[in-house]
Amino acid sequence: MPEITVDLSKLKHNTRYLKELLSQQGFSMIGVTKVVSGNSLIVKAMLEAGIEYLGDSRIQNILKFKQRKIDAKYILIRIPSISEIPLVVQNADYSLNSELKVIKLLSEEALKQNKIHKIILMVDMGDLREGVNPLNIKSYIHDILKLKGIKLSGIGTNLKCFSGIIPTNKNMKGFSKLTEEIENVFGIKFKFVSGGNSANFNWFFSTKDKGKINNLRIGEALFLGHETIDFKPIPNLYTDVFRLTAEIIELKTRSLIPHGIAVSNAFGEPIKIQSTSNKDQNGGSRKQALLNIGRQDIAIKGLRPIENIKILGASSDYLIIDIKDNEYEIGDKINFNLNYEALLKSMTSPYITVKYKN
Ligand SMILES: *Cc1c(COP(=O)(O)O)cnc(C)c1O
Repeated sequence: MPEITVDLSKLKHNTRYLKELLSQQGFSMIGVTKVVSGNSLIVKAMLEAGIEYLGDSRIQNILKFKQRKIDAKYILIRIPSISEIPLVVQNADYSLNSELKVIKLLSEEALKQNKIHKIILMVDMGDLREGVNPLNIKSYIHDILKLKGIKLSGIGTNLKCFSGIIPTNKNMKGFSKLTEEIENVFGIKFKFVSGGNSANFNWFFSTKDKGKINNLRIGEALFLGHETIDFKPIPNLYTDVFRLTAEIIELKTRSLIPHGIAVSNAFGEPIKIQSTSNKDQNGGSRKQALLNIGRQDIAIKGLRPIENIKILGASSDYLIIDIKDNEYEIGDKINFNLNYEALLKSMTSPYITVKYKN
C-alpha cells in the first residue's frame, strides 16, 4: 500500500508556534482538522501542543473524537444539515450558522437535550460562499437572541474559499465595524470575532489595528506551513509535516509517442503528447514507471515529487512517471510532498496507510 507519513513533532511545533503567534495579538485559534479525515492520533498531537478549540467540517469526525475521549471544545465549521441536528447538539459545543430555519431547529433540539448550543453567525463579506448578507444581519440577530437553548457566541466570516476574495484592510475593517455596530445596538459582546482562515496571514502580519477581530480558524497553515494567498511558507514553520510514498510496480522503456489512433484517456480527457522535440518525434524513448497509486487516492496536480522524476499522468490505479536518469528497481519507493487537495484526498483514501513519526 502507498503510505503517508505524518511527522507529529513537526506538526506540534507548527501548532505551538501559530497558537503563540496569534495569542501575542490577543487572538484565539480554532485548529481546523477537516483535512485529516478524523485521524485521532493527529488530533491528539495538536491538543498536546496546546490547541483548545477544534474545528471540523464533519459531525461524524467530531463524534469519533468524543467517543475516543479526546477532550476539546468542538466547533462544527460547516453549516449543519437539518438531518444532523440531533448529532450536532449532542456532540458539537459550537456550530457555524447562517440559516434561521436551522438555528430554530437547533434551539428546539437543545431544549429537548436540556443543553445550550452555542453558535457563530457567519457573514458573507464578498466571497459568496456561506454567511448572511451584512445588510440583513441585524434582523437575524434580533430573531436569534429570542431563541431559548441557543447562545450567540460569535460572528465569523470566511474568504478565499469560493470566489478567491482575499482578506484586505478594507473588508476586515468592514467586518470589524459591523461587529462593533451589532455589539452596540444589541448590548452584547461576542467571544469569537472570527476573521477567517489561513488566507488571513498576510493581513494579520501587515495590519497593526485589527479592530474587533480576535480569532482565526486555521487548518492549512498548521499542516502545510504556508499562508494561502501566495502559498509562501510562514517563517519558522515546517512545510514538510506530511510525505506520501508510493511503490514502483512496473518499469519499462517506452516510446515517447503513443502508437495508433488517439481519442481520449480513461477519463474522457484529450491526450497531450508529452514531448514534441524533433529527436523525440523520430522515435525517442523514456524510462517509465508505474506507481501503485491513482486517481482514487490522490489529486495528481497536487503531488510534488521530491526526487528528480516527472509525473506524466494518472489513471484510477496507476501514477505514470518518467524516471529520467534514476536507477530504480521494481519495489523502490518514490516520495512526494502534497498540496492541500492532494493531502485531503490521500487522508480520506482507504487505500493509503497512515504512518507516524514522533
Ligand atoms: C476549511 C475552513 C477553515 C480553515 O481553512 P484553512 O485554509 O485550512 O486554514 C476555516 N473556516 C471554515 C469555515 C472552513 O471551511
